[in-house]
Amino acid sequence: MAQQVPDVDELEMEYQHLDFMEEMIDLGEFIENRRDEGEELQAQQLLVIQGIPVSFPGQPNPNQWIMMENIILSLSEGKNVLIESPTGSGKTLAFLCATLAWVHHQHQNQQRVPGGGETKKPVIYYTVKTHAQVSTVLKELRKTSYASPHINPLSNLKVAILGSRRQLCTNQDVIRNEHEESRDDACKRLHANFEINRQQQGQQLPLPTCPLYKPEEDDYFKNNRRCANGAIRDIEDITNSALVNQSCAYFGSRRQLASSDIVICPYNYIISSHIRNSVGIHLTNNIVIFDEGHNLQSVSCEEGSVSITLRNLRQIIDNCNNATRNPQAGGLLANKIRILSAALLNVWEWMVDPQTLPQTNADVLDAFRDFLDRDTVRNMENAVDYVINAIENEPTLGSGTAQEIRKFVSVLKLLYTRNAEGDGDNDDMILQNYFLQLENEGAVSRRLNIICLNASTVFGQISRQARSVLVTSATLSPLDSFQKDLGIPFEAPISLDQGIPASRYWITKVGSGPNGLELNLKSTSREVLALQKEVGQLVLKVCQTVPNGVLVFFPSNPFLQKMKRGWEQDPVEELGGRTIMSSINDAKHVVSEADMTDAVNTRELLRQYREQSRIGRGAVIFGILRGKLSEGVDFQDQEARAVISLGIPFAPPNAPTVFARKSSTSQLEYWRWYNTNAIRALSQCLGRSVRHQEDWGAMIMVDQRLIERAEDFRGMMPQWIEAETEAPRNQYNNFNDMIRSLQRFVAENNR
Ligand code: SF4
Repeated sequence: MAQQVPDVDELEMEYQHLDFMEEMIDLGEFIENRRDEGEELQAQQLLVIQGIPVSFPGQPNPNQWIMMENIILSLSEGKNVLIESPTGSGKTLAFLCATLAWVHHQHQNQQRVPGGGETKKPVIYYTVKTHAQVSTVLKELRKTSYASPHINPLSNLKVAILGSRRQLCTNQDVIRNEHEESRDDACKRLHANFEINRQQQGQQLPLPTCPLYKPEEDDYFKNNRRCANGAIRDIEDITNSALVNQSCAYFGSRRQLASSDIVICPYNYIISSHIRNSVGIHLTNNIVIFDEGHNLQSVSCEEGSVSITLRNLRQIIDNCNNATRNPQAGGLLANKIRILSAALLNVWEWMVDPQTLPQTNADVLDAFRDFLDRDTVRNMENAVDYVINAIENEPTLGSGTAQEIRKFVSVLKLLYTRNAEGDGDNDDMILQNYFLQLENEGAVSRRLNIICLNASTVFGQISRQARSVLVTSATLSPLDSFQKDLGIPFEAPISLDQGIPASRYWITKVGSGPNGLELNLKSTSREVLALQKEVGQLVLKVCQTVPNGVLVFFPSNPFLQKMKRGWEQDPVEELGGRTIMSSINDAKHVVSEADMTDAVNTRELLRQYREQSRIGRGAVIFGILRGKLSEGVDFQDQEARAVISLGIPFAPPNAPTVFARKSSTSQLEYWRWYNTNAIRALSQCLGRSVRHQEDWGAMIMVDQRLIERAEDFRGMMPQWIEAETEAPRNQYNNFNDMIRSLQRFVAENNR
């Protein structure tokens, strides 16, 4: 919603507030700029929190106060922060203002110390899970006096936004020919040509290079920090801007890194030690923020795990052998590739040997002693580091193969890493942190699984290096489990109440449909036509009751497809002889996540959905729980007047990580972990609606098991959702009572 442009007196007052920054500002220009940006900017308030001046746009809400107090106190003491705060509570802004204020204050204090010399400001790494989140962070950043020159003309905050070549490459030929050669490989080949041309100093016809790669020029990106003042609003703006200026956004953003105050990057840039090292991210004494951090445990364990089949391994070995025969491979590079290939061949021979029986844990560890011990892994690590650097200029081995080897070696390295207590040599300790398995896969193949069970194996390195790690999300409950699973200490974790008035959201669990059929949506039940139709009629009824946009989340894509097929079959008498699907089409414009096969059509279908949800009969989107729409995509106001979750998104029991946990932990511990992960994913999708104070929406969780097994799931949802679903006013005798209550809720809010 557009913010009101403050009047001049109010602006002058804000100007006074900025005095604490001891910076001279031209008031006339300041007011003009504020008027230009009136849509986004709010009056700045000078607050004092935990003794530190904080400039904040507007009046913070109570949750933002609590967050900022907690953050500033923890930063001062070098502790970690864990805050669960509902969607729409303004956590991004609170986290930005509190950390920027603390860094600013800290730096000023250090500079005032006589003879203190030049001190380095802590860098803030703001990590995001999705592309869309980058725009959200930039939007919030621009509201602050720390970043926006429109509020404070002398603000000099330097921002870098990191991404992969897939996101930031600006060479149109490379992008166009991606089906023939990946952007990584094409860029490396052009890069190598650049080096060859340089060495030959014009003695031969130059090889083709990337015209946008200009390492020695003071190019557009080197000094340009327009991200903060509004010219750059998302990743597309960065690439477009680079294109206009004939620059490379990928290398440009990396050059910005060394002199940045705040770095916005994907999660894995921090989680993966390999990416940290190769990009040049240094965490020591710096601050790391994980927004939407609810998946950190699984992401960290994935980073520490690898699963490889005989076929994969053979392909990697063959690629290595081919690379060593490539005349471009210099002697040293070829030798390093041979070291890797020989070590991997030993693993392959062990896996393929008919005398090697399927085995787990201590047996696998015993076998590793013969061909994959600590020294071998160290040699492989040195070799793979060399190869990855060398192929930037000598692209003999595909970057995909090199990264697969790098991943395998880095997991082996973690496996053998001594833990904080220094007893990593001990097999028992390794087997507490890891599940090792060689399994048959079908009649002829085998798979080696090295599954990390303890997130602190990976995440502990980050928390030990950084000054403070700040984790927030709307769905971290239960907090004690979250801490335990992540394995790092947090100072007094907090779960904040919903700040949006209760009259603006309506939450219920539904166990039976319009015809009274019990809705147990376990995966096998998707085959039952009667159940498909009951679910379809429920979705239809909600679409007919709620205006504008409705989000419907299915537990998996096969479930979605089965349901849709059921809804397309047989006319239904109560629907005037129409099928359920055609009736849903009458009620809403239908968009499906299953059709979002690439970035381009995802953008287009989302655009269509957003547009249609705001006009006429509205729109419904069929999404998948744990899919790209259920997390990290904002649906505000009319875009989501109801969210329906169908089923519970339990992970497949045969997934390697699930099997590993089941085999390695107690029954009690396993079920706690398994249920918590499913309920957390379910809570995430509910948070897609009701995004701010004026927003409103209904949240409907459909599955009889949520009611029957309520005790098993207690404490696994954010408190405000749990309290609301259990409130007597939200218990209904039947489906029709529930729909009548929903109608009243819509009538009260849709004014
Ligand atoms: S140098 Fe930059 S623009 Fe050129 S190919 Fe590589 S990533 Fe793309």
